[in-house]
Amino acid sequence: MFDIERYKDQLLRLHDHICPRQVLGLRMGELAGELLGLPIPQTDKSLFVFIETDGCFSDGVMVATGCSAGHRSMRLEDQGKVAATFVDTRHGAQHGVRIWPHPLSRQRAAEYVTTAQDSWHCQLNAYQRMPSQMLLCSVWVELAAPVQAIMSKSGLRATCAVCGEEIINEREVVRNGVCLCRACAGISRYYLPAIESRQ
Ligand SMILES: [Zn+2]
Ligand SMILES: [Zn+2]
Repeated sequence: MFDIERYKDQLLRLHDHICPRQVLGLRMGELAGELLGLPIPQTDKSLFVFIETDGCFSDGVMVATGCSAGHRSMRLEDQGKVAATFVDTRHGAQHGVRIWPHPLSRQRAAEYVTTAQDSWHCQLNAYQRMPSQMLLCSVWVELAAPVQAIMSKSGLRATCAVCGEEIINEREVVRNGVCLCRACAGISRYYLPAIESRQ
């Protein structure tokens, strides 16, 4: 049985309120633990999660699973979706379980809790009580790259031949024998030098 009390202290340290999306994150984390057969919240790094948006939902996932960016067991793959893929890292695994809210979860919440003052309170309450198969969808997926490649190894360092900055976790790109960071290589560059962007 889902029990919000288990998580309340931790959530309220991160937020001044508990909201429906935090509950969704908690429920997803618990379902992932069940489906993968892993005890949560984890105390090691056996569980790795890709979250597909940030915000309240991601704190729910973090609190339920013990996965976090700080422990390098949580990674944001921003798709703008309240969804997450959970991976058991122990078996060199390239597959995991992707979980997202059932398309009818809001409608079903309204059927589940009919006395709430508004839809926000209705969802907050119903998401705690709905059976997971009413609330969530899940499917087994293959990862595009092994999770070990994403986790990489600690202590690895490279230096970009263009900007001279240090690159860790094997995120460098080698082109014609030249070591580049992803920004200088033009891959997933989210900024331009101010001077260049004003031209
Ligand atoms: Zn919130
Ligand atoms: Zn560079």
